[in-house]
Amino acid sequence: MAADVKSMTLEELQAFLAEWGEPKFRAKQIFAWLHEKQVDDFSQMTNLSQALRQRLAAETSISSLQMVERLLSKQDGTRKYLFALENGSVIESVLMQYEYGNTVCVSTQAGCRMGCRFCASTLDGVERSLTAGEMLSQVYTIQKDLGERISGVVLMGSGEPLDNYDAVLRFIRLLHDPAGQNIGQRHITLSTCGLVENMYRLADEALQITLAVSLHAPNDTIRQQIMPVANAYPMEQLLQACQDYIQKTKRRITFEYAMMQGINDSDVCAEELAQKLRHMLCHVNLIPMNPVKEREFTKSGTERVQHFAKILQQHGVETTIRRRLGSDIDAACGQLRRRYMQKEER
Ligand code: SAH
Repeated sequence: MAADVKSMTLEELQAFLAEWGEPKFRAKQIFAWLHEKQVDDFSQMTNLSQALRQRLAAETSISSLQMVERLLSKQDGTRKYLFALENGSVIESVLMQYEYGNTVCVSTQAGCRMGCRFCASTLDGVERSLTAGEMLSQVYTIQKDLGERISGVVLMGSGEPLDNYDAVLRFIRLLHDPAGQNIGQRHITLSTCGLVENMYRLADEALQITLAVSLHAPNDTIRQQIMPVANAYPMEQLLQACQDYIQKTKRRITFEYAMMQGINDSDVCAEELAQKLRHMLCHVNLIPMNPVKEREFTKSGTERVQHFAKILQQHGVETTIRRRLGSDIDAACGQLRRRYMQKEER
């Protein structure tokens, strides 16, 4: 396949074009077309010579996505998008509108291979990892569709970001590049189910992004029942990796905790969790679990969630309850894609 110029950093684009005998500023021009003006077609890059535009079109590519479906929430401006990749795989992205700005929830893989038992994205395993260009295209396409700036990105769509490490890091650097969209690192959140080795790698990248860790349980016994990854990395190792991240980046970690009735939502669970987290620079985000029809779990009641939060807070653990956006278009995460794929199979 032709090299995707959208996935290249400015330095890589400079090196690539140097081999064609092009001066350095040419790479800057192309970079600005791709990431500032977000043009997906070389013919529109009007400050390049005709000959260079033709050579670029013949020998390289610009990754893009096709919008297959778009659902708009009537309640709060949330939008769900179904995009097709060039090989036909489909992915979901979500736009969330907050008072402080527009945030896009990006998929990092088509499907997922982590196997969390409550999650719809992993039901059919992973089809493939996305390139940095494909992740950027989710943000750029939604920005164009909305006609407003996207100021934040969360890597919380389908896929495990740390299972696609290099492309994800490239994506974050490109998003943050002042010559592109210049999205502040503090407005970027990467969510992981806890791939410990790559959490250590991430801590060494000297980024200022927020790390969110899908904990979902106060101990290994419960975590192993709902997250296969817990068999590979016991919680003690996971929390050590979190401490390392905090120490190196001075950034507060977010722990995600999806509340599942009768599984992880008792007072005893809250007490145990509080004991483990209370001296950590962290924040717990309780997520009212999204019921997935193929999965047996049910969500905890509102009062249970509130009580759980109160116990954590009493122990000094900062806790919030995630607000549900777009509940009127709320096929749980990954469900839109699944419905589409099943339709295609028939
Ligand atoms: N692979 C990454 C990011 C994916 S999903 C991770 O595991 O963190 C983003 C968050 O949604 C994760 O915390 C994930 O565990 C959670 N999630 C998945 N399915 C869910 C469901 N049905 N209800 C509530 N949260 C869910």
